[in-house]
Amino acid sequence: MTEYDAGANRVDTSTAHSARVYDYFLGGKTNYPVDEELAETILAVDPTVRNTALVNRWFMHRATRWLSQNGVRQYIDIGTGIPTEPNLHRIAQEAAPASNIVYVDNDPIVIRHAEALLDSAPEGATDYIQADVRNPGRIIEAAGRIIDFGKPVALSVIALLHFVSDEDDAYGIVRRLVDALAPGSYLVLAHVTGDFDPENAEKVVALYRKRSGTTLRPRTREEVARFFQGMELVAPGLELAPQWHPELSRDESAAGDTPVPVYVGVARKV
Ligand code: SAH
Repeated sequence: MTEYDAGANRVDTSTAHSARVYDYFLGGKTNYPVDEELAETILAVDPTVRNTALVNRWFMHRATRWLSQNGVRQYIDIGTGIPTEPNLHRIAQEAAPASNIVYVDNDPIVIRHAEALLDSAPEGATDYIQADVRNPGRIIEAAGRIIDFGKPVALSVIALLHFVSDEDDAYGIVRRLVDALAPGSYLVLAHVTGDFDPENAEKVVALYRKRSGTTLRPRTREEVARFFQGMELVAPGLELAPQWHPELSRDESAAGDTPVPVYVGVARKV
């Protein structure tokens, strides 16, 4: 079965998609049987993946609290995902309602649910762009509707770049995006690694490839660190997700002892 939305954007319900599989891991309802099937197959190979997805999401919460406390009032969040409360703007606007947030995703399923991303506090603004991160120029141009590129911006790519291959120039894309930002801006990144269990990671990579045609490219610590080249990582540096400012947790449960193979970091453009 294939569905079409109002535009030419097809939501293909016959093949699993990363946004919907991730939504299933988070316990969401915006997914189809093919997504559930792939998610369950992955969970059978590695039951810790569900916890990893949650802990990754909680990093977004803490990083946004940190950025907001450090004066950031503009955000561009690429690879936003299907809305899951609290979304980034809810956290950013809680302490600073006059914050502007641009969400970007390339999966047409996200735009169907985008109203949840667009209920901005009246003092600020939110916008949604359907775009592929591999076209950074278009994102920068469209984000200009509510982002002032003369002022600092937090650019987040959380659990996104492991879906961008080296052939697609993942590093060049990040460089182009960061180049467009004013000094004092931040890059916020979370990225899956196979460093701790390469065999399992390889199995999950194969499942994504076979069952959804999606490239999953786990990267080593060194490879993830390269995304921050030329920027200053803020304390505590490049860490595994549970270790990044745990004191900023709110209602999120503790990660416990389950390993979380996700490197995270926030870096400042100087
Ligand atoms: N950032 C969210 C969601 C991560 S799931 C979070 O961490 O909670 C990864 C998201 O990236 C999915 O929504 C998927 O649709 C999106 N994505 C994957 N490849 C993309 C690309 N090339 N361009 C834009 N978005 C992409």
